[in-house]
Amino acid sequence: MKYLDNKTKIIATIGPATSSREMLKKIIETGVNVCRLNFSHGTHADHKEVLERIRSIDEELEIHTGILADLQGPKIRIGDMGEGREVVAGDLLQITTNKDNPDAIWINYKDFPRDVQQGENILLDDGKLKFEIVSTDGKENVEAKVIFGGILKSRKGVNLPDTKISMPCLTEKDLVDLEFVLKYDIPWIGLSFVRSADDVLELKSRIAKADKTSLVVAKIEKPEAVQNLDAIIDEADALMVARGDLGVEIPLQEVPLIQKSIVKQCRNKAKPVIIATQMMESMIDSFAPSRAEVNDVANAVLDGADAVMLSGETSVGKYPVEVVSTMMKIVMRIEQSDQIYNTEIFPEDVPARFITDSICNSAAQLAKTAHATGIVTMTFSGYTAFKTASYRPNGFIFVFTANRKILDMLSLVWGVKSFYYNEFVSTDHTIDEVKLFLKEYKYAEVGDYVIHIASMPIARKGMSNMLRISHIK
Ligand code: PEP
Repeated sequence: MKYLDNKTKIIATIGPATSSREMLKKIIETGVNVCRLNFSHGTHADHKEVLERIRSIDEELEIHTGILADLQGPKIRIGDMGEGREVVAGDLLQITTNKDNPDAIWINYKDFPRDVQQGENILLDDGKLKFEIVSTDGKENVEAKVIFGGILKSRKGVNLPDTKISMPCLTEKDLVDLEFVLKYDIPWIGLSFVRSADDVLELKSRIAKADKTSLVVAKIEKPEAVQNLDAIIDEADALMVARGDLGVEIPLQEVPLIQKSIVKQCRNKAKPVIIATQMMESMIDSFAPSRAEVNDVANAVLDGADAVMLSGETSVGKYPVEVVSTMMKIVMRIEQSDQIYNTEIFPEDVPARFITDSICNSAAQLAKTAHATGIVTMTFSGYTAFKTASYRPNGFIFVFTANRKILDMLSLVWGVKSFYYNEFVSTDHTIDEVKLFLKEYKYAEVGDYVIHIASMPIARKGMSNMLRISHIK
């Protein structure tokens, strides 16, 4: 199959609605570039099955679908509430860490009574219910007053926006899941509830120790992460604006500007950025989205996000194929607009990278003036692909690489289509072969301009230092 024409990538969370081979193939053929395995749900056996199906579909379709393994992180939840329990404003409730106390609401956070203080807020079920801490014994019991009531349902999430949480970013469960993820060479790992750059460094050091090359997506969903954004962007390989938890942890009205600022800062540093959660939420139950959801996806594309993500819409929704198809139509329509291309970002004066960065930037500028079909880059590390994408050229970024490890990793990056190529005869020979390939697979037509980034001499496999423009004949 030829890669589809979207430049902004679509990520779909896989769940019961999409885990069969047939559904996975359908959503990939409709527009999904990256499949997200959510380790908050499912067993390792489930994830392994999905992984094997995606890899066999890739082989059949001759494409490279990205995989994002999303670790649960220190997600705080309440225990089993049976059929649910109604609580109303003014009620006083006991919350406990002691599983043997049947009269209180159990919480999976051992140090909860020690970490909270009187007057702090507790938000439950995505902020639908709100309690306030009245007192704590500092050991295992907390008394809380209901401020906004509702039905307390089993295993719902808890957010503590005012509390300094002492739990580590990587929990015991995450470490077990990480072992699985590294064993199967999953290219992207999502790190939940990141608070500082050290959280990212801790995961990266574990990946390096295992001698693996997976990259880290830092999920921005805590106020501390917003405060430490600069350092987190520097250390992470990509970011996710995880609006579900972020919108509970900070005032909702702050999220749109934070989203825009994160996208801008990520693009400046050539780090891919994902916009996530509730993008097409109403399509969990309905075959059409709300008008506001269409605008939300369109705005994320216009902001310059690398990828837009679906969660419940594809994991448990009734219309997984339709939601991907609708999202694809929005993305494609907005990408016809000139507004998202070649916005003014220029190479930084970092001597070690200045030549390569200038080549990537000039390639993007040239793609615009020449109305080129695409920019071809030969890369081993993927650096020129990330960098060229950050300049948002008005054309695709065709990546040819002998490094199999980056083929599916690059599926997350804006505008990139990646192919395996391992000949290093000469630059002229490679350029001719690549042009033939693009013509044969209908990525380019006779008369199109293509821009080439390469390193000369090619056999040395050094940093990119050459820019060329050529015609498809
Ligand atoms: C979010 O909170 O927006 C998010 C993507 O995280 P998760 O779905 O893992 O809770």
